[in-house]
Amino acid sequence: AFNFSAGPATLPESVLRQAQDEMLEWRDSGASIVEHSHRGPEFIQVAAEAEADLRTLMSIPADYAVLFLGGGATTQQALIPLNLAAPGQAVDYVVTGHWGKTAIKQAKPYVDVRIAATSEAGGFRDIPARDSWQLSADAAYVHITANETIHGVEFRPFDGIDAPDVGDVPLVADFSSSIASEPVDISKYGVIYAGAQKNLGPVGITVVIVRRDLLERAGQPRADIFNYASHLKGESMLNTPPTWNWYMLGLNVKWMLAEGGVAEFARRSAEKAALLYGVIDASGGYYRNEVAAAVRSRMNVPFFLHDEALDKPFLSEAKAAGLMALKGHRALGGMRASIYNAMPVEGVKALADFMQDFKQRHG
Ligand code: PLP
Repeated sequence: AFNFSAGPATLPESVLRQAQDEMLEWRDSGASIVEHSHRGPEFIQVAAEAEADLRTLMSIPADYAVLFLGGGATTQQALIPLNLAAPGQAVDYVVTGHWGKTAIKQAKPYVDVRIAATSEAGGFRDIPARDSWQLSADAAYVHITANETIHGVEFRPFDGIDAPDVGDVPLVADFSSSIASEPVDISKYGVIYAGAQKNLGPVGITVVIVRRDLLERAGQPRADIFNYASHLKGESMLNTPPTWNWYMLGLNVKWMLAEGGVAEFARRSAEKAALLYGVIDASGGYYRNEVAAAVRSRMNVPFFLHDEALDKPFLSEAKAAGLMALKGHRALGGMRASIYNAMPVEGVKALADFMQDFKQRHG
């Protein structure tokens, strides 16, 4: 079956098979990787390789640290203001969907959250033009969500450049659902963070890519375990890290490198997205996606059938055809196809064919 879940999401079969093969014993080491101490040479090697490979995959510059943490993206949404802003300091948020709002919710207890721009009044179907953003001169950072997983809205090359220009204020971006899906100029960002469970591996580990000088900021009074600088010093092993998830992330990153890296995934993503939006747009209103064409997500394609009564048969027939997890998020209803790096083009072709066939049979 092809699994269109938004996350935890599909993983490459070869990665799962390798993990299965190595589950009982990792490389003649006498034990499974889940049984080795995180301080032992076996796991240290796994962790170091995962970081080196991720740096290669994403072209992460040396002046950026990479942290591997637990707690998911939501925890980073709280740790970012704690680490990068003074108590009560202004921070700017550009809200283009549900996850921008969760980021604000986590930051609010610690900082003066300002909404620099929001597309909520229009139902999060667009990204406010850069010249409408009301940025604060005294902001500790500007936060955006690179790809809104539920609303299907993605920052595309913006005003002709690949990241919005916010001057000298660090740009912090939630890349949970689009990380490693295309070449990104990391140097345009202060922080990039992402839960692993869409493009990087299984749920349970979170990647934080942070410009090293930002870790010198005093931030706010906080426990050591909430301190990014301490995590860096402790090589993301202040406490027992999620070793299995880290190992799986490493296998998946190796797979992405072997497949051709982010440029190849950008090519595949463009092809997959064009296939699905093509069927939707050519359906004469039978299917509908309401997001402004210029910012439609290449990763998550929400769509609606023209008659809600068809939702149930669509889902049950899709499932019978081996097309899983197409039900839309409860906040929006309708359908959503998540087409991350591990979703093959054939899976999207199968869905596109099914959608055309369904329309003919029920039209
Ligand atoms: N940000 C985005 C863009 C997401 O898609 C998600 C989860 O789907 C989150 C944040 C929350 O991530 P987590 O569940 O890892 O905390």
